[in-house]
Amino acid sequence: MSDDIAPAGPVGSAGAGVADRAAPGRASSADELVIAGLVPLSTCDWPDHLVATAFLQGCPWDCTYCHNPDLIDPRRAGTVAWSQVRELLDRRQGRLDGVVFSGGEPTRQAGLADAMRDVRARGFAVGLHTSGAYPRRLRELLPLVDWVGIDIKAPRGRYAAITGVAASEDLAFASLRLVLDAGVAVQVRTTVDPTSLDEDDVADLSATLRAMGVRDHVLQEMRTTGVRPQYLAALRRTAARTPPAPRRADPDPAAPALPSAEALPPAEALPPAEAPPSADDEGLR
Ligand code: SF4
Repeated sequence: MSDDIAPAGPVGSAGAGVADRAAPGRASSADELVIAGLVPLSTCDWPDHLVATAFLQGCPWDCTYCHNPDLIDPRRAGTVAWSQVRELLDRRQGRLDGVVFSGGEPTRQAGLADAMRDVRARGFAVGLHTSGAYPRRLRELLPLVDWVGIDIKAPRGRYAAITGVAASEDLAFASLRLVLDAGVAVQVRTTVDPTSLDEDDVADLSATLRAMGVRDHVLQEMRTTGVRPQYLAALRRTAARTPPAPRRADPDPAAPALPSAEALPPAEALPPAEAPPSADDEGLR
């Protein structure tokens, strides 16, 4: 997701004021994509599809619970060339259903449309993971996309505490509206982050999404691998001060249980940040 690899705000800071600045500009080639990693075969990135997944470098947001913070910095160099993705697809004709563009935030990069056209020209379907940070570019991409997995992180009023960016909720909900209006198949995903959301927030969000016309909303359990130590510490503090919550009268049966303090790794056992998959890891070199 790096349009020209210009930093979209100070990495690791709130990044307040980051707007939808990725408006389509000059045409950009797939060969300019900055790709942090490529998984040649995934069964979980697009439901019921066998795909290759490309992780694009750079994200304008800085979510507290980001489990791959190494993908945030848009100045970081890529490790996989688009030509390697092309070669992979040519070798996997008939054995893959499609390619998922993930990140980071893949819509940040101007070369994404060209890459999607390339994928379609080779006979593969296109999936997109996005948090909806760039709705103007997303609108241009939607005709090239067969399926979208979009993160809607919180109900309105709760977004900035997660992403560090005041405008993020407007951008995310605008993007979701675009996807729904385009009629593209979509799964909405929400990470249930106990440091920023409670059960009422999750219920409110689910109701909002249903009212918008969302039919597929998945609640994801927050991961503790790969996240920053500060986030693990915040989780521990939240778990320590949160008494067992009385259940709502109408609990969402799909809602993951909030973790107890005992379930969290101790401070001295914090896992290292998860490195994105590389071409070497995946045997592409
Ligand atoms: S939007 Fe995704 S990639 Fe970006 S900081 Fe948040 S969790 Fe990480």
